[in-house]
Amino acid sequence: MNKPPENIEAINQAAFEHCIFPLAEMDAVRRDGPHIWVGGQGVELTDNNGRTFLDMMSSHTRANSLGYGNEEIPRAIYDQLVKLHYVGTVDNFVEPAVALAETIAGLAPGRLSNLMFVSGGSEAVETALKLAKQYQIDKGGKPRAYKVISRWNAYHGSTMGALSVTDWLGTRHVSEPGVPGTSLIPGPTRYRNPFGMEDEPYADFCAAYLEQQIIHEGPENVAAFIAEPIMQAHGVQIPPPNYFPKIREICDRHGVLLIIDEVITGFGRTGAWFASEHFGVEGDIMTMAKAMTAGYFPMGAAITRKEIIETIPMFRHVHTFSGHGGGVAAATTNIAICQRDGVIANARDNGRYFLDALQSALAGSPIVGDVRGLGMWLAIEFTADKATRQHFADDTVKAVVQRMKDMGVLSSAIGNAMEMAPPLITTRDQLDRAAEVTAEAVRDIARARGFT
Ligand code: PMP
Repeated sequence: MNKPPENIEAINQAAFEHCIFPLAEMDAVRRDGPHIWVGGQGVELTDNNGRTFLDMMSSHTRANSLGYGNEEIPRAIYDQLVKLHYVGTVDNFVEPAVALAETIAGLAPGRLSNLMFVSGGSEAVETALKLAKQYQIDKGGKPRAYKVISRWNAYHGSTMGALSVTDWLGTRHVSEPGVPGTSLIPGPTRYRNPFGMEDEPYADFCAAYLEQQIIHEGPENVAAFIAEPIMQAHGVQIPPPNYFPKIREICDRHGVLLIIDEVITGFGRTGAWFASEHFGVEGDIMTMAKAMTAGYFPMGAAITRKEIIETIPMFRHVHTFSGHGGGVAAATTNIAICQRDGVIANARDNGRYFLDALQSALAGSPIVGDVRGLGMWLAIEFTADKATRQHFADDTVKAVVQRMKDMGVLSSAIGNAMEMAPPLITTRDQLDRAAEVTAEAVRDIARARGFT
């Protein structure tokens, strides 16, 4: 298919000379060489050594929801850029941006109606945080509300505001003290939590903890609580159904805005347009990015209710490339493709099929504690001891991911779990192959670790 360029050694060398590798373990990159991809088609990616992989991650960032080589989206981007690429922000919109805002408002839960476009997930979160703080100030009654509550292991982005409500990937500590006023509380996790509680009572405990934290911080000081509907850390942490209704009630009781961060879950990942739908929860503000354009253009947005935006005489926040025509065309076309081709239903049904396949293939494994997922977002949680649910102290998860890669399937290690986020268009045949490779890799690594 895609042949690697002949000067690949020179490209690798130049990468070391001139590129920064964000969040990469540099010892491993120096040992194995940089990842340089030279082509993609469907759900397959080809690297600089000429090897082709089944990409069960929709790119490392889970953004490429329609896989690779789509021609409709690039054509729509081209047409829009030639017609009118960009006019700046403030009160300027390229014409299709207005129609896109209307379309997304129609897909978003409940009363979420007014949207600001930005260039990615972190900017979407910054927008949401500032919107919440300004609303509290302009509304009156909470003029000092600068505090935001987030959760252990949350990931909300890399810019200073978003980073200050982030706890995952070790990115926070190097930038501390961050933006003042953030505190972290426990969030519901599946299979394992620090208190050894069952999942549902633990979710109740986490919700009750939010109320105590609001009281402790002073409700008059708290602008917002931010949460991913399904937390990514340690693999697809689907909250039990009792969690979000309680969170919604507590936020309302204390005049705290609920920000739902759908940057990774939005636009079909979980087999619904937005994961909020699974839990019947409506945020006061909701963020989105990544699969919004199927990864074909950098774009994000924050959407809120009319009452919130109408309380604010002037939203004191701006980004230069808000509503860029390229992103607008990409998102509009991505949504049209998803609607026309039943992409979201495919993610729901084939995701369920993949989950069943993985659960049955891994049922007898001595090192697999839990296999869970929603739509095309799945995780396998490993344990060194099924009775105590103790996690592995060594790099077992990374070894499974590496073994799968050796067999031509890309997955990702995420703490105690291995994650897969296949493109939403992945077929059952491709998922069968991914399930077989997963089972074989898990078997090999279990054997290598002395399990029989
Ligand atoms: N929020 C969530 C839930 C995310 O998963 C991410 C990215 N992984 C972000 C925010 C930040 O998005 P970006 O990397 O586009 O800035």
